[in-house]
Amino acid sequence: RRRLVMLNIQGVHTFYGQIEALKGVDIEVQEGEIVTLIGANGAGKSTLLMTICGNPRAASGRIYFDDQDITDLPTHDIIHRGVAQAPEGRRIFPRMTVIENLRMGALSTEDAYFDDDMASVFNLFPLLQERRNQRGGTLSGGEQQMLAIGRALMSRPKLLLLDEPSLGLAPMIVKQLFAVIKEINEQQGVTIFLVEQNAYHALRLAHRGYVMATGEVIMAGTGGRVARQPEDSRRLPGRR
Ligand code: ATP
Repeated sequence: RRRLVMLNIQGVHTFYGQIEALKGVDIEVQEGEIVTLIGANGAGKSTLLMTICGNPRAASGRIYFDDQDITDLPTHDIIHRGVAQAPEGRRIFPRMTVIENLRMGALSTEDAYFDDDMASVFNLFPLLQERRNQRGGTLSGGEQQMLAIGRALMSRPKLLLLDEPSLGLAPMIVKQLFAVIKEINEQQGVTIFLVEQNAYHALRLAHRGYVMATGEVIMAGTGGRVARQPEDSRRLPGRR
């Protein structure tokens, strides 16, 4: 079966004032894929994810989701069409309980879905069920990341955008988290676009990968090919 291009980013430029953070980015994510975007600090990865959601806006270029041009749509409209993001730094609501946080993710869906959708999140993350009445701020870093992903899933996305889910987590927790990301993709059929600095795990998980540097895509390929490349380039003279 021919796969559909779910997310199509064409020649996108994004500015912060005078700073050109994205300099003509082309990226494609097909339905059913896990695609990983790696790159150093400041490469523009977070800016790209935020631009997909319309904040900041692309200054030029186009972004298509499910063949619809979403470049100039308001953020809530983009989310309503099936895009959800677990942002960098998790951004959970610290004073709200786990259940209240999940409810915030479900604002765009029918109330009737809530119980089933929450059960499905608890099925992926049993720890969240145990902590369901605890405030978000009292959770560990790993649990907060699970909550951020769970909250994003509550909007029933077709495309899940994850910004550095492994940031600051112990290797053991990272491994578990990536296993669940794979499960979300394989069992729930959610397409995943994942931004990471933790290249090793993220590329092993991915069907395809892209590498960004200073606002541009400098490499694309299968997860394995991209995984080998950064090691090679680290051995180039003048780089550590
Ligand atoms: P990180 O892993 O640190 O999040 P990144 O690859 O996600 O890095 P971005 O955060 O997208 O990179 O940053 C891309 C560029 O845009 C950097 O030069 C950064 O300094 C700049 N930048 C990011 N956010 C802002 C902002 N709010 N105002 C001005 N410049 C910004």
